[in-house]
Amino acid sequence: MTDLSQPVADAQPATAPGGVAPPLWLLAELTYRCPLHCAFCYNPVDYTGHNRELSTDEWLRVLREARALGAAQLGFSGGEPLMRDDLEVLVREARSLGFYTNLITSGIGLTDKRLGDLKAAGLDHIQLSFQDSTQELNDFLSSTRTFDLKQRVAASIKRHGFPMVLNCVLHRYNLPHVDKIIEMALAMGAEYLELANTQYYGWAHHNQAQLMPTREQLDEAEAVVERYRRTHGERCKIFFVVPDYFERRPKRCMNGWGAVFLGVAPDGAALPCHAARALPGLVLPNVKDTPLSDIWYESDAFNRFRGLQWMKEPCRSCEEKERDLGGCRCQAYLLTGDAANADPVCDKSPSHEKVVDVTRLAALAREPREQPIVFRNDANSRKLTAARAAPAAQAVDNLAHHAPDSAPNNGGPTGD
Ligand code: SF4
Ligand code: SF4
Repeated sequence: MTDLSQPVADAQPATAPGGVAPPLWLLAELTYRCPLHCAFCYNPVDYTGHNRELSTDEWLRVLREARALGAAQLGFSGGEPLMRDDLEVLVREARSLGFYTNLITSGIGLTDKRLGDLKAAGLDHIQLSFQDSTQELNDFLSSTRTFDLKQRVAASIKRHGFPMVLNCVLHRYNLPHVDKIIEMALAMGAEYLELANTQYYGWAHHNQAQLMPTREQLDEAEAVVERYRRTHGERCKIFFVVPDYFERRPKRCMNGWGAVFLGVAPDGAALPCHAARALPGLVLPNVKDTPLSDIWYESDAFNRFRGLQWMKEPCRSCEEKERDLGGCRCQAYLLTGDAANADPVCDKSPSHEKVVDVTRLAALAREPREQPIVFRNDANSRKLTAARAAPAAQAVDNLAHHAPDSAPNNGGPTGD
């Protein structure tokens, strides 16, 4: 396994700024707090160990430094970014700096007052997530009772004149509902619908056996999407990306490590990709003690997998390496134990059979809901963290397989 705590001798030089393009977009993960408990959440399973949040002033500095660096698109995300009561302050500053701003939200806490304040602050765009088109599945998958509230929030977003992306993460439970999900987006007046097939990181990786769809489910859903694109494509642009587990070549992850994306976690850790926190040994620089420009151009974490020189075989000598850049580093680590390996989605990878096995098992599983899903919540995060630190089967057995009784049922009325 490649030791990520050691500098690589033949890594690309820690970059003259002239040799590396600036980031295009900044993802500000304002908090890991969230009223929902999604089974597919991409937050790290050990998020409870990183719960100190940057202050308002620290975030304002991050925004200014990122804009000076060249970033133009800004996503406010989490957790649930509405848990921060300084969101409006941050949006106002971002807008005055010239960012195009997007709020990525579950909608819980998005009252009419906050929508008005966010509009006045200059927020450009809202991405609202649903778990499904049915109340039963929406509420099951988030382990909350939030479906009706989300419906009201969607209507409020449109009333305030925001362009809206409806986002729904897809997996074996809701793929058969894709037609209903599209109908829901059309009825809500969404300009965009993002049907995001689950990426198996974080909690989704932990629940992979329960969430992985079958090839047939994906093919049927894709045919439905095509039909709607032909009839309703003018009204609502529909994005649908097949999960890479069913491909033979990996995705060009993040369009390249350290190429366009700069994430900042709630505690200030700078992330070359959403899931980079999962890579052991990779020392993530922190915005609290390092200027963003140094993080982007000089840090080992951002230079580690930039370009092509870090590659091992079979990528190193592969004629396709410029196209996919060897795929996803986090997926390579999660499936092979070495982040410098070829992404095993690639059928040239010696570990490709592991990916095939996962999809084969999914095709055999009849009723995955009979298996326990581990929902994202603080108690499960602590137990999983402990289980990983000192493998104790006991701790895993003790996992709560349902959200705690104290889980909030919603974020309160929207003021409608
Ligand atoms: S995926 Fe669900 S639990 Fe995770 S941050 Fe988003 S809304 Fe919250
Ligand atoms: S061997 Fe590596 S570079 Fe070649 S196609 Fe596979 S993942 Fe891409």
